[in-house]
Amino acid sequence: MSHARLDAIFSGEDSLQVIHNRLCIDGTPIVDLLESDKPHYLYSKQMIQERIQVLRAALPSDIHLHYAVKANPMPDLVAYIAPFVDGLDVASGQELSLVSPFCQPEQVSFAGPAKQLDELHLAIEQGVVINVESPTELARIHTIAETLGKKALIAFRVNPDFELKQAGMQMSGGAKPFGIDAETIVDVAKTINESVVTLVGLHIFAGSQNLSADALITAHEQTFLLAQRLVNELDAIGFGDSLRHVNIGGGFGIPYFPKQPALDITPVCAALTLRLSERTGRFSELSIVMELGRYIVGEAGLYVCQVTDYKHSRGVDYLMVNGGMHHHLANSGNFGQVIRKNYPVLLADNVLGDELHPYEIAGPLCTPLDIVAAKVHLPKANIGDAVVVLQSGAYGYTASPLAFLSHPEPIERLV
Ligand SMILES: *Cc1c(COP(=O)(O)O)cnc(C)c1O
Repeated sequence: MSHARLDAIFSGEDSLQVIHNRLCIDGTPIVDLLESDKPHYLYSKQMIQERIQVLRAALPSDIHLHYAVKANPMPDLVAYIAPFVDGLDVASGQELSLVSPFCQPEQVSFAGPAKQLDELHLAIEQGVVINVESPTELARIHTIAETLGKKALIAFRVNPDFELKQAGMQMSGGAKPFGIDAETIVDVAKTINESVVTLVGLHIFAGSQNLSADALITAHEQTFLLAQRLVNELDAIGFGDSLRHVNIGGGFGIPYFPKQPALDITPVCAALTLRLSERTGRFSELSIVMELGRYIVGEAGLYVCQVTDYKHSRGVDYLMVNGGMHHHLANSGNFGQVIRKNYPVLLADNVLGDELHPYEIAGPLCTPLDIVAAKVHLPKANIGDAVVVLQSGAYGYTASPLAFLSHPEPIERLV
């Protein structure tokens, strides 16, 4: 997108364009990609492809890139992404079943802080890597592996002894429900019975939605120091041969709000090259994995709903739409935002109209929380117009209370 007004709200992808004032993906007006006038999520293959190419070009070539499925587990989308990445990371038994047709089991890792027995059973049966989150979980894995007569592959999910500054969602440092405290990893490792469990890696995930290159560089520095120390210690007690990888997490964020600068991954990737070369001993032979969800799919998804009513209430113009918070919780501001801000919102077929008008856009739920956009300035809108919310490809459909008020679910399409 190259129009000044759009550039101000959106960092842009090459395949999202405005042609004759209409929002298009790869030259096709997005309204022509809708199956009906019901709300839709549209995910662009081309935009996902572009993002993966940008990542591959910037990341050191020996970093393995994984897709974190929970960001968007739409089956067609996961099937599309799988061949372009080196592995898939799942967070539940259901996600594990979803990815198994698309990927070799050793390319799948399964993290999650309260895994259930049936999930562990499935993971061991399939031969995927289980990111172990507690000593109790490790004991359960021993028991199930013995019962099945199959060796379990595990990695330790480490709760680091540092915090990722400026992350949207902090997952490390101090007391956390995620992972095993770094200082106890070696003691827990000593309880492994190597006849049934193989320790293949470490997983250190410090946080999500980070837009600061400096903060990511610092986090990677600390992650590599911690990994170096733990690999040395594990090597010293005999695990050096079985270790294959260290997963350093992801955390690359995308901009959602006006004036929020996009993350510049160039310095982050340059620093990673340095970190890779500084490794010593057994650590220098291990594969380094990065797992990204939001960064791969977040900007490649649009949420589209229709204006079904217009009304004026005491000085405020409302556009009522057939979609809202039940489909897109994050856009409503109720998924981790402290002060609600609008996602970038457009009219699909009048993107650049000159006369801007202030609107409140509200959905069909009987709650004042159901806001699609507040005090947003758009060209004059009519009943039947399609309203588009950008940056909706990650943590949208499946991170929303779809059953709340029993309205129909949105249609999801990979285009
Ligand atoms: C959620 C999650 C991710 C993906 O995070 P993004 O911010 O979407 O990139 C990666 N790894 C783990 C362990 C996660 O829980």
